[in-house]
Amino acid sequence: MAEGAGEISVATISRAHKIKLDPNRAQENYFRRACGTRRFAYNWALAEWNRLYELHKQDPEKNPKPGWMALQKSLTQYKKQDDRKWIGEVAANISFRAVRDVGQAWKNYFDALKRGDRSVRKPTFARKGVHDRFYVHNGNLRFDDDGRHVLIEKLGWVRCREPLRFNGKIMSGTVSRAADGWYLSVQVDVPHIVKPHPRPGKIGIDMGVANHAALSNGEFRHLPVESFEKLIRRMRRAQKSLSRKWSGKIKRGHADRALRNEEGQLLPKSKRFIKQAQRVGLAHQRIANVRMDALHKLSRWIVDNFDVIAVENLNIRDMTASAKGTLEEPGRNVKAKAGLNRSMLHAAMRQFRILLEYKSAAVGGRVIPAEPAYTSQTCSACGHCCAENRQTQSEFRCVSCGHAENADVNAAKNILAQAEKGL
Ligand SMILES: [Zn+2]
Repeated sequence: MAEGAGEISVATISRAHKIKLDPNRAQENYFRRACGTRRFAYNWALAEWNRLYELHKQDPEKNPKPGWMALQKSLTQYKKQDDRKWIGEVAANISFRAVRDVGQAWKNYFDALKRGDRSVRKPTFARKGVHDRFYVHNGNLRFDDDGRHVLIEKLGWVRCREPLRFNGKIMSGTVSRAADGWYLSVQVDVPHIVKPHPRPGKIGIDMGVANHAALSNGEFRHLPVESFEKLIRRMRRAQKSLSRKWSGKIKRGHADRALRNEEGQLLPKSKRFIKQAQRVGLAHQRIANVRMDALHKLSRWIVDNFDVIAVENLNIRDMTASAKGTLEEPGRNVKAKAGLNRSMLHAAMRQFRILLEYKSAAVGGRVIPAEPAYTSQTCSACGHCCAENRQTQSEFRCVSCGHAENADVNAAKNILAQAEKGL
């Protein structure tokens, strides 16, 4: 530990709790309208942003770059017209926050570009039914004494399935729609006394498709691939059946043509289609839940047993390169074991990193990122670095000193060594 070991410090940690809500009919109606207003404001702001950016490109002297604060002011003006009064029927924070979200989305995009991470896409227009949500301002969000109801601005008390888990300062809330109903995510800042880590120790982790987490001490930890596979198969079946259900007239394999009538208009969705779409949504949600559960367990085990945790700094660009492999790691991902596919691995790595960081901060540990360049072809024993060291996907054999071990464990050792340099 860099700071004096044995010291006790007080920190604030941010915790999140997602609570299922039980809105009544009128409340659910408000939720739908609020999501609609949020979507409208977001799309309005994004269109404005794009327009202003074009003007800026044409004449940078005269036209400033767009910014979310200026756009919030424009929105206030825009809302004043009579036919747009409906925007003000839900809490004003909802549309203001949507404008800010557009600014944040652009910032995330450009920050990622600077890091060389191309996985973050440009902001796109919000669509109905895709991540429907709206923001609840913290000043207007509170729970009643038994924690069974939450006060939501402009709406009143809404029933919660469970009380808020954390005691602290409520920072913000988001109401969102999932396949099985409505949820409120609450961010809470919780004061936390950090004691020295009970089991100080250092560990490096290399995450990959085959060995989900290879550790620098030679251990492997795997995510429950079998249950993923089962769930993914079930989801695919549900999706397949969905594509046949839009209208009763659709014949197998002719879904695209059959969805439109002669004039090219979309046929109405059948009741069976809507029901099946719900099933597909639930199947997606189930996969996400199982993955999250596995990541919670794995990160818990790691932060309980080690206080310095070295991980690869996520360089998504390298990982998403063609399946033939990147220049640095030829063919690493070819013929990877099925089950945890690469897009799932990326999502898992990101979530895992977030979980590791907040959990280790809570027990007095820390997470240190290491640059992933050459970690897979450098010898962890002598430091010799060349592509020939990595003979196969799983085997590392140093051409200089003869050191041989599992390639992912060797990489995990390099990740730890790199992180230690920065300590
Ligand atoms: Zn060597």
